[in-house]
Amino acid sequence: MQLPSESEVKLWYQQHVNGGFLSLVSFMGLDSTEVEAEGWTVRTADGREFIDCVGGYGSYNFGHRHPAILAAVSEQLGRMPMSSKLLLNGQLAGLAHDLAQVTPAGLDYSFISNSGTEAVEAALKLARLTTGKPGVISATNAYHGKTLGSLSSTHRPSYQTPFAPLMDHFGEVPFGDADALEAAINEHTGAVMLEPVQGEGGIILAPPGYLTAVREITRRRGVLFIADEVQTGLGRTGRNFACEFEGVEPDMMVLAKSLGGGVMPIGATIGTARVWEKFQQDPLVHTSTFGGNELACAAGRAAIALLQSENLAQRAAENGRLLLEGLRALQARYPQVIREVRGIGMMIGIDTFSQDISQLFIANVIEQKVLVAFTLNRPKVIRMEPPLTMSASVISEVLQRMDTALAATAALMEQYGLAEPDAEIEAAPGPQGSSQGLQH
Ligand code: PLP
Repeated sequence: MQLPSESEVKLWYQQHVNGGFLSLVSFMGLDSTEVEAEGWTVRTADGREFIDCVGGYGSYNFGHRHPAILAAVSEQLGRMPMSSKLLLNGQLAGLAHDLAQVTPAGLDYSFISNSGTEAVEAALKLARLTTGKPGVISATNAYHGKTLGSLSSTHRPSYQTPFAPLMDHFGEVPFGDADALEAAINEHTGAVMLEPVQGEGGIILAPPGYLTAVREITRRRGVLFIADEVQTGLGRTGRNFACEFEGVEPDMMVLAKSLGGGVMPIGATIGTARVWEKFQQDPLVHTSTFGGNELACAAGRAAIALLQSENLAQRAAENGRLLLEGLRALQARYPQVIREVRGIGMMIGIDTFSQDISQLFIANVIEQKVLVAFTLNRPKVIRMEPPLTMSASVISEVLQRMDTALAATAALMEQYGLAEPDAEIEAAPGPQGSSQGLQH
């Protein structure tokens, strides 16, 4: 199927997709059509070649079009891409088995869906089925997706308010404060759901000991612990799963993004035998037509195999250190732009002094043909989540281009008198300033 021309694409975005989105990306200099990608390179119809440091918000841990993932998907495509839904599905069984092998102990069963928010929805429903309680506590600035159940746990007023009322008994506590979490648990609470590192919240690392404390509290209070590793999973943080930093064994884990190997959409809700008990009695109580299709499961199995055979978590730890050190050196040179650089593995946030500054900085980085983006719940933080496989020489090239972009940003800030921190965002609660967290 041939792509429409550049002018048709823009016109049809305006007329048939979403004109607001077109304006948003045009402002950042990104109003050209993507046509091709491989590894960390994305090419556009107007002949530009970007180094991808957004990585599909954590979907390209293996890069774009990794040959091993392509081979697995192509082979399955030639055989049977989608399930009959009635017969047994070998790739689904294979993926569920592989997930049970690599995830923390006790997570033995999987339900496969098509996206992160679907994986969260399944976890919310299974928590209710298991405990009989409707309440879920998550953290301020959490991001768990935007379908109605997940959105009830995604605590950002601009996303939640237009859709109120949301789910009853969904509570919010400051991220990193175990005492506040314990105090918020009441007779309605069935589960606590947390990201080990808040991604869209602005790359906020769980303070040391927090996940362990949450596990202890939830166990003692008879509440399920759901770890949302949609963004942190599959090697991103320097471990296969970020829960491993503290050896935490949750009752459920949700995965998506890179589980599809950067080639297929997928979501996975992985849980213990206890969580699956009632689900096994009524296996049709939660289903999905496309969830668990052979094509996506083949991609997932190839992704897990690659994660292990290439020791990608270790590479993420090493590459992340290089990037973090380089960015901190840049922060020292441009302290008027960068407030803090924090992160773990290849999940790095550049915290600027205001949303205006971050927008200007992003536009300048894009001018240098590096793709970066702000975090959804905290737009003054720019995220870098490149493929874990990025070579040291490309990381060094990225840092050089960031240097040029920072110089341009600093000059423009001076020209426009842009130095005031954004008071509203600065005042947001939580341990945002802290670069102390999960440790290697
Ligand atoms: N959970 C986390 C931690 C995420 O970062 C995201 C998306 O960014 C989601 C859930 C929702 O995933 P999706 O956008 O695939 O629905």
